[in-house]
Amino acid sequence: MLVLKTLEAPFLQTQNTGACVEHTIVQIQKMDIKPVIVVHGGAWAIPDDLAESSKDGVRYAAKRGFSVLANGGGAVQAVECAVQMLENNPVFDAGHGAVLNAEGDVELDAIIMDGRNLAVGAVSCIKNIANPVMFARTVMEKASCSMLTGAGANKFAETMNIKLVPKEELVTELAIKEWEQYQKYKQSVTCLFNSEQMHDTVGAVAIDNEGNVACATSTGGITNKMVGRVGDCPIIGSGAYADNFTGAVSTTGHGESIMKVTLARLVLFNMEKGETPQDAADHALDYMVNKVNGRGGLITVSKTGEWTARFTTKRMAWASVKNNVLMYGLNPGEILNEVIHL
Ligand code: ASP
Repeated sequence: MLVLKTLEAPFLQTQNTGACVEHTIVQIQKMDIKPVIVVHGGAWAIPDDLAESSKDGVRYAAKRGFSVLANGGGAVQAVECAVQMLENNPVFDAGHGAVLNAEGDVELDAIIMDGRNLAVGAVSCIKNIANPVMFARTVMEKASCSMLTGAGANKFAETMNIKLVPKEELVTELAIKEWEQYQKYKQSVTCLFNSEQMHDTVGAVAIDNEGNVACATSTGGITNKMVGRVGDCPIIGSGAYADNFTGAVSTTGHGESIMKVTLARLVLFNMEKGETPQDAADHALDYMVNKVNGRGGLITVSKTGEWTARFTTKRMAWASVKNNVLMYGLNPGEILNEVIHL
């Protein structure tokens, strides 16, 4: 399908005609856009006993997200659907399966962003909500602000009839075991991350057949994190960013490092300079290692539907679907694929 798009400020060509500046609307022809979805299940040293279930989880989420796009759904709907599938899967550190903070409680962060108009909804330190990404979308669409945190966020959730669940419903045996272990050693978030003993944040990016991009990221954070600690995930430009002008990104890894380099926006900045998604991702991740000694991973899709999944940790579970081909991997350099029938 040939899509004619009209660019609006600030990407207008401007002509100074004396008294006033005239904006010439630029019409560009977009190439035939194929819908694409990419998902990740967190960058860390995924142990062998979680390897298969992590791969299965991202493959399933990518297929579900892609079927939204294949049925004419938009990028926002697709990333929300894919991230919900990952939140519902206890293998991942988001929604069900979230890790526990220093007091053994579950505090969740999430973000969703629409590349059409930079609309964004972010929530942090929320409790008793099984699908934070859905709540983030509600904030994006219904709140008079972009980001809500803690008790205020939970209050808004109640007014929006977001279902609350008991904490126990979100907590897995693995999360308790891990928490008990870290309680014993009282390690900081940085020590925990450097030992790569943590769980998987989840995320998705997509481009739909109209050429619109979107992203979403959701996490329980890092085991034993301070009560009230907010990582990169809900921070606009750090945990995620989407702009039709360039593309969309979702990140994972050491939150304190990701925030310092605004990793998601840095990738798009590199792409704006003309770098391929892969170079843009690698240069941004290298910058994070060199500048703040932080490791992580990310997925990105460009405005033309090129995508990549890159990481500097030992492993990251990821999957993508384009042209009915599912690709996925976990180890550095690993790319497996299969044809899917929807
Ligand atoms: N970025 C997340 C955080 O620091 C953790 C992760 O990606 O696994 O909260």
